[in-house]
Amino acid sequence: MWSAVADRAAEVGEVAILVPPIHRMVPAHEVEELVAGGELDLPQALIGLDARRQLDLVAIGIEPTPAARVRADDPAAPPQRPHLIGEAAQRTFDEDVAGRDIQVDLAPPERPSQVVEPAAGEPLDGGEHGVSVSDHEPSIRGPAQELRRCCYRSDVYRADAPGRVNLIGEHTDYNEGLVLPTATPQRTVVELSPREDQIVRVESIGYMPVAYRLGEERHHGDWGDYVRGVTWVLSKAGHHIRGFDAGIASRVPPGAGLSSSAALEVALLRALREAFALTLDDLALAYAAHKAERDIVGARVGTMDQLAAGLARTGEALLIDMRKAPIERVPLPDKLEIVVIDSGIAHDNAKQGAYNERRAQCEEAARRLGIAALRDATLADVERLAPQSATLARRVRHVVSENERVRAFVQALRTGDVARCGTLVDASHASLREDFEVSTLELDVLADALRAQRGVHGARLVGAGFGGSVLALVDAGGAAAAARAAAERYRSRTGRAGRVVMPV
Ligand code: ADP
Ligand code: MG
Repeated sequence: MWSAVADRAAEVGEVAILVPPIHRMVPAHEVEELVAGGELDLPQALIGLDARRQLDLVAIGIEPTPAARVRADDPAAPPQRPHLIGEAAQRTFDEDVAGRDIQVDLAPPERPSQVVEPAAGEPLDGGEHGVSVSDHEPSIRGPAQELRRCCYRSDVYRADAPGRVNLIGEHTDYNEGLVLPTATPQRTVVELSPREDQIVRVESIGYMPVAYRLGEERHHGDWGDYVRGVTWVLSKAGHHIRGFDAGIASRVPPGAGLSSSAALEVALLRALREAFALTLDDLALAYAAHKAERDIVGARVGTMDQLAAGLARTGEALLIDMRKAPIERVPLPDKLEIVVIDSGIAHDNAKQGAYNERRAQCEEAARRLGIAALRDATLADVERLAPQSATLARRVRHVVSENERVRAFVQALRTGDVARCGTLVDASHASLREDFEVSTLELDVLADALRAQRGVHGARLVGAGFGGSVLALVDAGGAAAAARAAAERYRSRTGRAGRVVMPV
């Protein structure tokens, strides 16, 4: 039976073998060597392989069971259960995407289209895009080295992007409002090597490898959709790339409200820009990342995450008015530190319908009010809508008040009024809990735990909600102690371990 694998592998040229905890992709001749040397003993994998005959790439995986081993040097090891990559049902992605010939305009004119750099001398500590190397940058030794040994055929391009912490302005981006994100010190790193053919193979530490052919991007419902989305949007926008092998490593925690997805998309796009000399500036790149997530992943997110991953730096926030240019860089005062604690309850934009539901409610409210977007709504509109729908009225009140809070927060930042910033952050949380209804008991407890600490000026859930993280503004020097104590209090109240993401 095994010869069928070897034949098929020889035919297609390569086979992915997943060896937990490190995934490896190996050329066909190595598979034969592994088999000949008795290192690979997976008879059941053949069945799966035959089932995938129609595929150009063959992938054999091993479930990460406690006894997951491939070497036959332990005869007592139980047989491994094979697992085929891409086994998940192949859904065609949204019909409205698949059916139409979409024009991808990467920087619509009504969107922010330039960034104002701060005056010289303002305190910034952000690195240059794509070349920053910091303590928080993950190492991609291990899988990447394996990948390079086996698969990298030519130059290796390396790029990165940060996650983001939105200081204030939540659920306002898709309502054409205001947001104020800053970069996380943690970054996602991509190493990429171009191929001569159209095959894309990407490995990311902690995830199953992904392989597909350019031009065959479809929504699969797995993390590979972020990669497929990126190559799909580039081709739709008329950028020419070839296949590539890539390794990814990230210190941006996924599903923690810090936009690991945008960090991944932007880092990958930057690596592709380098590798294939694409003419994309960071703004166009951010909009491309956004379209990838919206159209292939299927998360109807606003553009804040990708703009932040593409443009934000630590030590400053980006004031983004989703309707009008330019994006402003607002330095953060030295006397302020940011704490972020992950509640340990992951949200997943791609899977959870609640985010899309909130978005639909905002659109419905705007439609009933006869305005283009809730950006144009006023408190009088809240009153007007209340008799029709108390829920929609509350959604509108959040958006209207949150936009005001962003303006007030920037004003307070500029005058160094940290106490005022804290009050606004607390008010944002209350509005997200009462009016937008995206908080959870755990997030409320965590925010309270942070507020109870010395030097904390305010706390709120950050990101879409329904889980994820809470941020707090703290007097400089007090962040680490406040975070530790709050995480402990959170644990004693909920039994959950909160993870301190910032300060690192
Ligand atoms: P957030 O962006 O707030 O972290 P999302 O639900 O938008 O949350 O994105 C999280 C998803 O993004 C993960 O479930 C995974 O599919 C994908 N993802 C993020 N980072 C990585 C990574 N380094 N490697 C592979 N997939 C990743
Ligand atoms: Mg995301």
